Amino acid sequence: MLQIYNTLTRQKEYFRPLNKGLVGMYVCGPTVYGDAHLGHARPAITFDLLYRYLQYIGYKVRYVRNITDVGHLEHDADEGEDKIAKKARLEQLEPMEVVQYYTNRYHHDMEQLGVLPPSIEPHASGHIIEQIAFIQKILDKGYAYISNGSVYMDVEKYAKDYHYGKLSGRNLQDIVTETRELDGQDEKKHSYDFALWKKAAPEHIMHWPSPWSEGFPGWHMECSTMGCKYLGEQFDIHGGGMDLMFPHHEAEIAQSCAALGHDSVRYWMHNNMITIAGKKMGKSYNNFITLEQFFTGKHELLTKPFSPMTIRFFILMAHYRSTVDFSSEALEAAEKGLARLTEAYTRLQKLQPAATSTIDTGGLKEKCEEAMDDDLNSPIVISHLFDSARAINTIYDGKATISSADLEQLKAVWKTFVIDILGLKMNNSAGNEQHAEAYKGAVDMLLELRLKAKQNKDWATSDTIRDRLIKLGFNIKDMKDGFEWSL
Ligand code: ZN
Repeated sequence: MLQIYNTLTRQKEYFRPLNKGLVGMYVCGPTVYGDAHLGHARPAITFDLLYRYLQYIGYKVRYVRNITDVGHLEHDADEGEDKIAKKARLEQLEPMEVVQYYTNRYHHDMEQLGVLPPSIEPHASGHIIEQIAFIQKILDKGYAYISNGSVYMDVEKYAKDYHYGKLSGRNLQDIVTETRELDGQDEKKHSYDFALWKKAAPEHIMHWPSPWSEGFPGWHMECSTMGCKYLGEQFDIHGGGMDLMFPHHEAEIAQSCAALGHDSVRYWMHNNMITIAGKKMGKSYNNFITLEQFFTGKHELLTKPFSPMTIRFFILMAHYRSTVDFSSEALEAAEKGLARLTEAYTRLQKLQPAATSTIDTGGLKEKCEEAMDDDLNSPIVISHLFDSARAINTIYDGKATISSADLEQLKAVWKTFVIDILGLKMNNSAGNEQHAEAYKGAVDMLLELRLKAKQNKDWATSDTIRDRLIKLGFNIKDMKDGFEWSL
């Protein structure tokens, strides 16, 4: 039975969904103002793994992953310019052009990484009415206040009735010392109060009417609102990167508790962060490598291009709650590991069954399930697959045999765990070589038939074959004793 680590209770818990018929899962998606990098790949792959495994163990899952296209401000999400509006201003584009452009690119990157699309992908800007209604509820309950056209969460008031900081383990005093003092703070009663609605400055290009001002919602508001709208006032899983725990998820909990009287989420899950050559990813380190740069190898920290599957495999080789350090060397090691797995997969498809098995290939399914049930322990699943790969290679080399029934079972387990659950695509060079060989053979055969037709003075057939091949893009050169061709 599946156990997952609940960040809220700080322990592994058996996963018992509210409604066995439909598991509700919400994951914070990207703010679409730039290309996706590794910081986007890790949560996407982590929760893709969970999404795939929940379906494998028999649940129907409604997976909501949002697109943040308004309200995410530059400083602590709460102050400064809107990230999308800023990009639009700099590039002289409509904000929604920026959103569309980077959403398309994000989707393309995720598809390359084998990340399944969510069931619903709501945009914050498409849910302004719902967010206004949610803010009104918080105001009605007395946990927010209006100041100069903006609405702020009254954190002190909230903290008297509820536990503010229960997810991140912070208390108000820590938060006071951490909060930056910035312009406009005088609107707030306390530095730790966060915006539910912000009045738009005259130069701000993204704004909507509300009962309080022409403005826009605070960043944290969209997730409380859209989670509630699509998954209900209480749902099973909320995921995201550890960097979102505070203030984003802590604020979400406060908003939901203030409006509804209870938290919406039963299991909070967080993936750990990625470092690059031991350093945090950040603009000041010049180590923001986009996924596109990984795929093309065009970045000074990379020795060569790395395929999307190598990136996926590398991320899955670590447990989602441990940190991962990216370096070219580590990626090259992952690439070799993936190649070994792919080779074993290809060999497995070619194995011939014998009357009996002389090697034990059983128990793989149970071992992989046990690892996945233990808080999605993908590195252990991968190590079991490597053990199995050794057995496959032994059979392939003729040093052991496998019965027909065992072979069928082994093929099924590999397909389930490698393709369906780990989501690895096994297009391999061995497959490509086979493909290329078949294609070359077919063209040669057609040209041999043409040669025969010519010898028989069947000019019509000979010309048809030549013309059709030329139309398909082939160059054909007749030689003294045969032919040459190229594409
Ligand atoms: Zn969120």
